[in-house]
Amino acid sequence: MGTGGPDRTGSGEGGARTISPHRHGEVPRDPCGIPGCTEISVRSLARVEVRRAFASVSGERGRVALCRAHYKEYKKATRSERELERLGW
Ligand SMILES: [Zn+2]
Repeated sequence: MGTGGPDRTGSGEGGARTISPHRHGEVPRDPCGIPGCTEISVRSLARVEVRRAFASVSGERGRVALCRAHYKEYKKATRSERELERLGW
């Protein structure tokens, strides 16, 4: 017996793979766009929409990032507005 020996040169999938840094999610982690707020945003919405809930937001174009709390407030504010619209219909 004793044929061959340790023959382990270059088996496998071609050696070292470069491990790319794991990117965390696809959501841009911008700060909240409401003046005075420093939270990380969870959503970004059209500026005109956000202004309906937050008068302190200036400008009309582009998008505004909202943190979780402000997004909740935004939804609340716009919801009641819609209900009013419905009542006046
Ligand atoms: Zn905020």
